[in-house]
Amino acid sequence: MDTDGYNDANRAFLQAFMGRSSMTLEDAQPILAAILSTHERRTVDPEDITQEHFTSYISAANTAISPFDLEIRSTLRQTQPDPSTTNGNTTETTPDRVYALVNTTSDPITQLSTTYTADEIAFVKRILDFMFDTNNTRLCEGMAISSIQAIQQAKVSALDRRHSENPATQATQGGAAQSLSMTQAESMMRNLVDEGWLEKSKAGIFSLTPRALMELRSWLISTYNDDDGNSRRAGRIKFCAACKDIVTVGQRCGERDCKGRLHDHCVRNFFRMQQAEKCPVCKQDWPGDKFVGERAIAASNRRQSRNVNSHSNASASADVSRGSASQSSPVLGGVDGADDDDNDEQEEEDGSDEE
Ligand SMILES: [Zn+2]
Ligand SMILES: [Zn+2]
Repeated sequence: MDTDGYNDANRAFLQAFMGRSSMTLEDAQPILAAILSTHERRTVDPEDITQEHFTSYISAANTAISPFDLEIRSTLRQTQPDPSTTNGNTTETTPDRVYALVNTTSDPITQLSTTYTADEIAFVKRILDFMFDTNNTRLCEGMAISSIQAIQQAKVSALDRRHSENPATQATQGGAAQSLSMTQAESMMRNLVDEGWLEKSKAGIFSLTPRALMELRSWLISTYNDDDGNSRRAGRIKFCAACKDIVTVGQRCGERDCKGRLHDHCVRNFFRMQQAEKCPVCKQDWPGDKFVGERAIAASNRRQSRNVNSHSNASASADVSRGSASQSSPVLGGVDGADDDDNDEQEEEDGSDEE
């Protein structure tokens, strides 16, 4: 196959790539096979397209687009096991490597402004705040949002108004945002899925796609790992001790204040090289059943409903009845009666509503 120089096949590949938000080798095989069949006037079978071919087309494309501050980057998909069927057992499949076109200079929130209104962008910002702030507590690192919770973000709350007075968020919002209607919010969520920013799990929970994580990486860190004296926001985004990428789906250390996190697929490789399964940061035993992402939400929901049953806590039961329409009853940290250091956590959770 002719992969020397930059030719029509390279141009066709880049065009095909730009028409999608992300691509895996599996996606690329039929595309490259079709392009090469035309270019070389012979039938190329998708099976014949190897990772090597794909990589060479990616690298040629990168050379072509670099003057435009664009780069095709890749990351391994964080495994997304169905929480209803997993009890902490990680599957042995190798995750896909996902390639996506990333703008290397501009802020992704600013990029959205070419397509969306200021109020719609403010809504996206509230969705992200919910995922990485509200639903990302010491007790439950959900880093995701249910459909119901997403629609609830249509309305600008008093809290958000206060937020938008903060100069840091002001810059991206340009003044006080107006609420969206429920229909507008629903259609925004659909757009964000269609455009490859969000993906929706079987249980109806939205999380960031690999592409969004690549594109939003530095924005997420600067927004949620703010270290300028606002301690509550410090260190909300955590990194895999093995691959150093952001963990929004994976496993966490049993010690709540420890920053030890690992992706499911990294756990296997990481502990294969170790004597024992110890946390890479604090060296305590790695529990293997403490999660980040949707499984953390599922576990927290179970704790919460146990707690409601045993204590009939008024505020907790109100929470549950609000979310009872779906399996994904909202978890905002919630009450954790099962834990021994309960009081301390309760305090933490209560406090997280301020800001
Ligand atoms: Zn990792
Ligand atoms: Zn640890």
